[in-house]
Amino acid sequence: MKKLLYLLTLSFIIVSCQTKSEQKTAQQLTSEEKIDSTHIKTLFNSVLKEGKSYEWLRDLTKNIGGRLSGSPEAAKAVVWGEQLMNSVGLDTVYLQPVMVPHWVRGEKEIARYTTNGKQKNVPICALGFSIATPDTGVFAEVLEVSSLEEATALGDKMKDKIVFFNRPFDNTLINTFSAYGGCVDQRVQGAAICGVFGAKGVIVRSMTNAEDDFPHTGTMTYNDLPQEQYIPAAAISSKAATILSTDLKTNPNLKFYFKQSCETLPDAPSFNVVGEIRGTATPENIFVVGGHLDSWDLGEGAHDDGTGIVQSLEVAYLFKKNNIKPKNTIRIVFFMNEENGTRGAKKYAALAKFNKERHIGGLESDAGGHTPRGFSIQANASNTKLLQSWKKLLAPYGLHDLDAGGSGADISPLKEENVTLVGYRPDSQRYFDYHHTSRDTFDKVNKRELELGSASMASLVYLMDKYLYNNIAVKP
Ligand SMILES: [Zn+2]
Repeated sequence: MKKLLYLLTLSFIIVSCQTKSEQKTAQQLTSEEKIDSTHIKTLFNSVLKEGKSYEWLRDLTKNIGGRLSGSPEAAKAVVWGEQLMNSVGLDTVYLQPVMVPHWVRGEKEIARYTTNGKQKNVPICALGFSIATPDTGVFAEVLEVSSLEEATALGDKMKDKIVFFNRPFDNTLINTFSAYGGCVDQRVQGAAICGVFGAKGVIVRSMTNAEDDFPHTGTMTYNDLPQEQYIPAAAISSKAATILSTDLKTNPNLKFYFKQSCETLPDAPSFNVVGEIRGTATPENIFVVGGHLDSWDLGEGAHDDGTGIVQSLEVAYLFKKNNIKPKNTIRIVFFMNEENGTRGAKKYAALAKFNKERHIGGLESDAGGHTPRGFSIQANASNTKLLQSWKKLLAPYGLHDLDAGGSGADISPLKEENVTLVGYRPDSQRYFDYHHTSRDTFDKVNKRELELGSASMASLVYLMDKYLYNNIAVKP
């Protein structure tokens, strides 16, 4: 009983503290900000009561699934996206043609080695754009390195060997994207470095914070190597990488075997899917909200980037549902081919330039569908300050991070001095458990977290539409 009384008192204190802090925040708002605050609350209430994004995501991931550029699934996703945009009642919906790379994985990859008389099977997957191994596979001794520099220093010693890149994520970094950024050069550039010296192949530790048995695919490049220097590249699971590294210490001459049958086919026709709510005051000013429609083939493309797609469209849905009429044109874009080429983004930016369109800003969601934390702002100093001044309106929803930084791969080609680009930033702790793996599936997405993200994005778009309009260097 005493304990119960204590708990009741404690919860009373917490509730009254919260109420006081909310009252205090409310008092600090100007009359205009109070209007904004009411609109933002409406957007959050609306998504939490009647959000659509979760069911849209279920449909995309479960009925289409993984959708790598050029695949039949990517083509289905384009049709799906166009139909969905039309169902939301956007003013205009259209497809923007773009030619995309068409890489196919082929048969399931295999890898194994024997050490101390024991055979170990290794979870492995080919990297996007890699060539196949010969039909008989690659079988060679392994040289372990932890950086591109270390690999380069090996020079001719790597001839006929498999080079094993094994620098792990720095797990002390709080933002896991920083850890990813600190390692991903191994995956992207490893084969180009080692192909020059006649290595037989490269294997790369998976890009993840987790120690598990799921290999992470992702894009790689041969840069401008002549084709005869191309070598097969694959990722092995983080757990297998740790075990292989240990085994190499006791048995440095062990031979590793892997086989993959992936292939790059001729470019294929595809589309960005575009839909607009026309602006009421200055429709010629365009504000882009988007994510990428393509995904890696191993999973269902749920967090990467199904969540970004459905959240972007939910921004438009929430505007329409709550009768918020933007001053500028809000353009929702489902970009094609972010994962291996960003051809959709490049085409979009080229057409915008060609058609002399006037973009005032953009918001991209491509960091997963976890709990909202804030936004990363890529803008000039005065617009960065303007966005940061909205913290008091956004913080009650957990949106505390409003730092300057990058926006996203699909909108950054639109960058110019007065174009304000923003990346949506959810919590990053679990993202690289799933990123580019067979685990990136619908069940990993939490409905409430996803919807809070949509409303966070809608709130920012509402504010940017209202205030950026008055704060751009060249007035209409
Ligand atoms: Zn992505």
